[in-house]
Amino acid sequence: MQFIDLMEQQKRIREKIDANITAVLDHGKYILGPEVQELEEKLAEFAGVKHAMGCSSGTDALLLALMAHGVGPGDAVFTTPFTFIATAEVISLIGAVPVFVDADPATFNLDAKQLKNAVNALKTGSGDYPLPAVCGDTRLTPKGIIPVDMFGLPADYTAVESVAQENGLFVIEDGAQSFGGEYQGKKACSLADVGCTSFYPAKPLGCYGDGGMCFTDSDSLAGAIRSLTVHGQGGDKYDNVRIGINGRLDSIQAAVLLAKFEIFSEEINLRRQAADRYSEGIDDSAGVVTPFVPEGSASAWAQYSILAKDEKHRADIQAKLKGNGIPTVIYYPGALHLQPAFESLGYSEGAFPKCEELTARIFSLPMHPYITPDEQEEVVTVINAGV
Ligand SMILES: *Cc1c(COP(=O)(O)O)cnc(C)c1O
Repeated sequence: MQFIDLMEQQKRIREKIDANITAVLDHGKYILGPEVQELEEKLAEFAGVKHAMGCSSGTDALLLALMAHGVGPGDAVFTTPFTFIATAEVISLIGAVPVFVDADPATFNLDAKQLKNAVNALKTGSGDYPLPAVCGDTRLTPKGIIPVDMFGLPADYTAVESVAQENGLFVIEDGAQSFGGEYQGKKACSLADVGCTSFYPAKPLGCYGDGGMCFTDSDSLAGAIRSLTVHGQGGDKYDNVRIGINGRLDSIQAAVLLAKFEIFSEEINLRRQAADRYSEGIDDSAGVVTPFVPEGSASAWAQYSILAKDEKHRADIQAKLKGNGIPTVIYYPGALHLQPAFESLGYSEGAFPKCEELTARIFSLPMHPYITPDEQEEVVTVINAGV
């Protein structure tokens, strides 16, 4: 059994992918060819936003969104420690300071209730919430918030937005895992000032290399991101109006994505059905917690992640599944505030207990649109048998 099977999908659309790549080889516009614009238009319409800007990866999408907001040294950006390193890495990369807010153990997303406490603690200099060490002697300016749509489930944007508005903060949606998800009638990547997604091959909509996209309704942010993607380009190629990066999406990757996008909605439905089968199949008596999806939300099911009782229970279940030929993966085994890369922030163990507990209990089961009910039955049977 495979954890993520990309081959089944390719078999379905191989001819279309070949034809789309061949078209790029024929016209030769490898950079910013017509495929990029066509993809941007289609995905903007799908997400329900005015502008979509292709870029080189999900990480660069986040970086570009921060750059477009003018974030730099002396600024603080709030995010969750329960995420992939890229979310917080880009904040440090442009010289700002990531300020972590613990995760909600039910949704695995940033806890909007604690966000308020963290913002207040930073603004007043009180010790009411664990803050980075640098906050002791430097006054940071709170600038923005990056909630993450963990495993495909959108964060609680209504609650996040109310804290953002009260404090004049921007919100960037890390929708790297959630393209195709929904929140209160709106699509993922349309839920903040800028939405960012990733086309890394294993994401719900993946290409055959690296790629990403920024989404926004704001004309000015869209203009800034587009310019930043091409070295801060102004009116013409050799007019440079700001410091940017080389962060474009390749025509060939856009060509692959156009072929995959044709079956994307169907694949999201298949993922939902697979998630439902797991949730219905796994018994309460198995002692694991299956994913919670709040009313009005829909996950893109990038991963189907469950909680064991504790670290040992998790190791035992994983070993038993492995013995039955069933692969599992731990996303994420380490909380970001305890990573050596963020040592200078001075966070200690226990700062974010919910996140730390998640890293000890969580693991993900095989999930992709083409997993069969029989395969899922095998997984469920092993889990329900207990350890
Ligand atoms: C995958 C991922 C990213 C980074 O995307 P890349 O395309 O690999 O750069 C950022 N944030 C989260 C939550 C991710 O899962």
